[in-house]
Amino acid sequence: MENLTDINVIRGLCERHGFSFSKSLGQNFLINPSVCPKIAEMGNAKKGFGVIEIGTGFGVLTKELALRADKVVAVEIDSRLLPVLDETLSELDNIRIINADVLKTDLHQVIKEEFEGADVAVCANLPYYITSPVIMYLLEQRLPVKTITVMVQKEAAVRLCALPGTRECGAVSYAIRYYCEPQILFNVSRGSFMPAPNVDSCVIRLDVNSAPAVETADEAFFFKVIKAAFSQRRKTLANSLSSSLKADKSIITAAVEKAGLRADIRPEKLTLEEMTAVSNELYPLIG
Ligand code: SAM
Repeated sequence: MENLTDINVIRGLCERHGFSFSKSLGQNFLINPSVCPKIAEMGNAKKGFGVIEIGTGFGVLTKELALRADKVVAVEIDSRLLPVLDETLSELDNIRIINADVLKTDLHQVIKEEFEGADVAVCANLPYYITSPVIMYLLEQRLPVKTITVMVQKEAAVRLCALPGTRECGAVSYAIRYYCEPQILFNVSRGSFMPAPNVDSCVIRLDVNSAPAVETADEAFFFKVIKAAFSQRRKTLANSLSSSLKADKSIITAAVEKAGLRADIRPEKLTLEEMTAVSNELYPLIG
């Protein structure tokens, strides 16, 4: 089997297939040989598991996943990669490639068709331009997956894994904790990719909860409140909520205080439970 982390092999594939890297599709392929086996092992690619991969590139991670898991279904948007994958993955018979945009793919259907009865994990070296949309797309659909193990830009990893109520957190940190327990697994330097991006990366794993971490009066309203709370980061929670939700400041202040918080608190100071309490107080009033 070809060594897909060898630069000369990659150059040969590019030449034979007339392939050039697309910046707009986030095509930075892994060339550090230690990274893909680690993602596969820490990402639940093992017997009894089916794995969904997003974005195959030349198949460097796909191969490591398929060597360990029962089956891999990989969604890749770039049709120019299909003939390359025919060549690089020809020795493995437990891989299905779906040529599509993952954000337009019915993954419930894929899981039903391909992984009935098996546990499911998602593993990917995500294109940076759609990191959060892809993660939220996977979580919001409540896919029956155990873990989501993804390589993301380092700054995104810190934000995604930040504990609500701490300095690094943002709206997405609350959404993540609602659905799962996140953790940073390991760092990956920019030199581990071809072409090298101008940022470093981290592999993170989201262990998906079987039920949401908190009980909301209304889930859609709860997410609206989180978004509104962080819409103007320098403002207090009450000011941001009042202007974004177009609600009277006195109503917001009363709800924040009823949730046991000071009216001048900043949004990033709230724990997940406190954000839920504010949202639950507001829902009957302006929901
Ligand atoms: N897995 C390979 C690796 O680690 O070397 C490639 C990773 S590269 C960072 C991201 C891959 O995602 C590219 O192959 C790109 O074509 C693909 N991609 C970009 N946008 C996508 C989308 N919306 N749906 C599916 N695949 C996408």
